[in-house]
Amino acid sequence: MHIEIIDAKNPGRNYNYLVACLETKQALAIDPIAVEACLSVALRHGWTITHIVNTHEHADHTAGNAAMRVATGALLCAHYLAPIPNVDILLRADHTLQIGQTVKFVVLDTPGHTLSGVCLFGTDLKDIPHLFTGDTLFNAGCGNCYHGGDPELLYDTFAEQLERLPDETHIYPGHNYIENNLRFAQSIEPHNPHIKALQERLIHHTGPFITTLREERLVNPFFREEFSEIEHSLRAKGIYLPLTQVRRKDIFLGLRELRNQW
Ligand SMILES: [Zn+2]
Repeated sequence: MHIEIIDAKNPGRNYNYLVACLETKQALAIDPIAVEACLSVALRHGWTITHIVNTHEHADHTAGNAAMRVATGALLCAHYLAPIPNVDILLRADHTLQIGQTVKFVVLDTPGHTLSGVCLFGTDLKDIPHLFTGDTLFNAGCGNCYHGGDPELLYDTFAEQLERLPDETHIYPGHNYIENNLRFAQSIEPHNPHIKALQERLIHHTGPFITTLREERLVNPFFREEFSEIEHSLRAKGIYLPLTQVRRKDIFLGLRELRNQW
C-alpha cells in the first residue's frame, strides 16, 4: 500500500488521496477533486486508477467524479444512502474494498458529519493501520454537522467506532485544518502540554502532517471528554451542561456547539 497525499490547494484546504498496490500498479482515488493533479501523480508512478471512493456527498469531495471517470473509467464507490449520481459500488459497514493484491480496506459506516459518510480502514504490509476519515475526524478536531449531519450520531461514531481503533492508526482527513483546530483545542484545554508540543512541531514542518490516533487522543478534545478542564471551560464559556451526572456525550455535544460559534 503506497499512499500519495494531494493538496488540492483550494480555499477549503482539501486533501485528495491516491492509494496504490505497487504489485499491480492499480490505485484508488479518495475524494479526487483536484483531478489534473491526481491524474498527473498517477501518471508519474505508472498507476491505473481503478476505483474512486467518495467519503460523503458534499460537493467539495465529489466534484471531480465525472472528469475522473471519463479520464480513467474507474468505478465510483460511496455509502449506499449517499445522494451521489452514478455510483457503481454501494458501500456498507464491513464491506471489503480491495485494490490490486495488497490494498484492502474495511468500510466503516460513520454517520454524523452527514448521514451517509464512510471511513476506510486498512493495514499495510508493515502492519501499520491507516484510516481515511473524510470530514468525520480531522486532525485535532471533527467535522461540523451543518449540512445534513447530526452531532448525536457523530458522537456515536466517535464513541463506538473510532475509539476502538488502534493507537498506531495513521489519520488521513478530508481537509487540512490542523492549525486552526489546535488553536481551538488550546483555548479549551490551555494546560494540556501535548497541544503546545504539537503546535511547535508544526512550526518546523512543511507539507501534510500525519497524526496517529495516539496523538489525537492526547490533543483532540473530541476524544477527551473525561478531562475536567474541558468541562470547566465549556461551563465558563456559557455552554449548557447538566449540573450533575454529566455524560461524555454531553461534553462532546457541548464541544461541537462551542466549536460552531468559535
Ligand atoms: Zn463535508
